[in-house]
Amino acid sequence: MLENQLLKIAQDFGSPVYVYDAEKIESQYKRLTNAFKNVKHLKINYAVKALSNISILKFFNSLGSGIDTVSIQEVQLGLAAGFSPEQIIFTPNGVSLTEIEEAAALGVKINIDNLSILEQFGAKHPKTPVCIRINPHVMAGGNANISVGHIDSKFGISIHQIPHILRIVENTKMTINGIHMHTGSDILDIEVFLYASEILFETAKQFKNLDFIDFGSGFKVPYKPGDIETNIEELGEKLTKKFNNFCKEYGKDLTLAFEPGKFLVSESGSFLTKVNAIKQTTSTVFAQVDSGFNHLIRPMFYGSHHEISNISNPKGRERFYTVVGYICETDTFGNNRRINEINEGDILCFKNAGAYCFSMASNYNSRFRPAEVLWYNNEAHLIRKRETFDDIINNQIEVDFSSKKQKELVK
Ligand SMILES: *Cc1c(COP(=O)(O)O)cnc(C)c1O
Repeated sequence: MLENQLLKIAQDFGSPVYVYDAEKIESQYKRLTNAFKNVKHLKINYAVKALSNISILKFFNSLGSGIDTVSIQEVQLGLAAGFSPEQIIFTPNGVSLTEIEEAAALGVKINIDNLSILEQFGAKHPKTPVCIRINPHVMAGGNANISVGHIDSKFGISIHQIPHILRIVENTKMTINGIHMHTGSDILDIEVFLYASEILFETAKQFKNLDFIDFGSGFKVPYKPGDIETNIEELGEKLTKKFNNFCKEYGKDLTLAFEPGKFLVSESGSFLTKVNAIKQTTSTVFAQVDSGFNHLIRPMFYGSHHEISNISNPKGRERFYTVVGYICETDTFGNNRRINEINEGDILCFKNAGAYCFSMASNYNSRFRPAEVLWYNNEAHLIRKRETFDDIINNQIEVDFSSKKQKELVK
């Protein structure tokens, strides 16, 4: 999208506002499917939690994508967006047996990552096939918060516990229809991924009724110039070869599935904020915007880098700024950034704001969550209204402290 198109959206819809470029989402989807074009049955299940607006989900539906969901509410959202149950896989962690049963009753694919739940589910519903989430204990990336393959991770069933899975399957007569892994949010090295895939194939051989193997996600996208990015084309070539060989050996053309979030939507998003004030201290020039970690928490939560540019003054002389928010908390978006000269009232654009940005927003400081706009067919479509005071007060219940009983309680 062009800077003047973004600027116009900030003028028309106000700030702060999230903007998503549908064309970018589509091109990422096609890049991925194209990289695996030599796999007979490929399924991309978009990870809803990255960006869960219903219009985004409908757009993925129109592309032919399925969805990966982690809560019963995401399942319901997917159904509301028009996905058929077979297009939805439920991949939760740490949820109750009841929630898994609710999802199964809706007819969606079930992925279980816990031996206790597997045994209970299998005993009660032996006719409902399930997929199992395996932890191959492969470390992808360096950040402990986003590497979920290590030995003490809460995600997945350890490969060392396969004998226990097999015993549960035999005892309950349940069917395992898929093997899944999701090693984390940062694949730095294709070789690490391919190594994990070998472990998955070894595991898969032990289950006779598989329909699919799900390789999860963790594809890396660049957040700043010079960042490494997962080479999807190279991964496609190498994994396709391994997968097709495996299918031959297994005796059936299985479906190869992925469930990317970040790869599909991160780069499509821009977050537009307005500069409320410039504040100079002894060492720093702060640009304070009309947002905070209530709207975009990744920089503070994960230390993530989001490029920030001044789209109101793109030709201005470059100066150094520390970009912070307006909530009563240290909320630094970017430290000591080189940005075109900023004046109060300018619109700053945060890049890579598609994944885990709006979906992690809150009402902290009793602020409204931002509006969302989808740029589609060269037109801006409002896909979520900015919240209003009603949204803040709606579920709150006021106690009448003037009544006698309450007065006694307060005493
Ligand atoms: C979050 C999640 C994903 C998506 O991860 P990205 O890094 O955004 O691609 C995929 N699968 C599962 C099970 C997840 O929880």
